[in-house]
Order: sequence, then C-alpha cells, then structure tokens
Amino acid sequence: MAVSKRIVLHFPRRLVDRPIVYRLIKDYNLEFNILKASVTPEEEGLMVIELSGEQQDYDKGIRYLTANGVRIQSLSQDFILNEQRCTHCGACITICPTGAFELDPVTRRVYFDNEKCIACGLCIKACPPRAMEVHF
Ligand code: SF4
Ligand code: SF4
Repeated sequence: MAVSKRIVLHFPRRLVDRPIVYRLIKDYNLEFNILKASVTPEEEGLMVIELSGEQQDYDKGIRYLTANGVRIQSLSQDFILNEQRCTHCGACITICPTGAFELDPVTRRVYFDNEKCIACGLCIKACPPRAMEVHF
C-alpha cells in the first residue's frame, strides 16, 4: 500500500551536513518533496517534507532516520485552531504562507485546513487571542 505523509525532521547539529535525506531515496526507494528547510541559530536543521512510497519502505525509512538521531514529528495533528478562542479576525489569513486559513464570505468565519499547514509557526504569534495551538 502506498502512503504519503508530511513530517517535520529535526536534525541535531552533528547531522546537518550529512546526506541523510538523500539515502531515503537511494536505499529505501522513497520520494520526497521539501516544503521547508532551515537551520536554527543553534544549528539544528529543520526540514518539513512530504515523504511517499510503499508502506514497508516508508516504515524502514523512518526507522533509519530515528536510528540516526533524527527526531520526527508528524504534521497533521500538531496545529489546531481552538474554536473556543478564535474571534475570526482573519489576521492568520494574510500571514499563513500556504493558505491554510480561509474566510467563508457568507458566515465570515475563518476555517483552518491543517492538511495545508507546513508548521512554520507564524500564526501562533500573529493570532491576537492565541487561538492557534501546537501540540508536540
Ligand atoms: S488570527 Fe486567531 S482569532 Fe484571528 S481568525 Fe486566525 S485563528 Fe482566529
Ligand atoms: S503554522 Fe500557521 S501560518 Fe504556518 S503554515 Fe501552519 S497554519 Fe499557516
């Protein structure tokens, strides 16, 4: 069975220069699409990727990553719009780089599609009532 998942990879400093992701293609027959990549001031590497392939290969690839010290965080459940707090002000719509928020023109309510979220974190600070929550 083929799977495709969006995940966040955290590389410790010692791995930043190593061709870890390259090996996923070569050794595990996986395809990946980089959605975001950065190195933090502490030189931890962060990469948001979409990883696709057969379930068996995917599982082996994930095991390879964790065995090498890469911390993996799945994306889809991590960012949540707290409906109790949201005032539907729309501040998140302009700040989100992937268009994960949408304003319903009729109800004037803001909806969040976490399938589009790449976990950049910009909406967390931009939201006045702190309605965006991240769960690690
Ligand atoms: S910025 Fe916050 S309060 Fe405003 S619409 Fe977005 S999630 Fe809701
Ligand atoms: S973290 Fe917030 S601003 Fe960033 S992609 Fe996800 S929803 Fe959009």
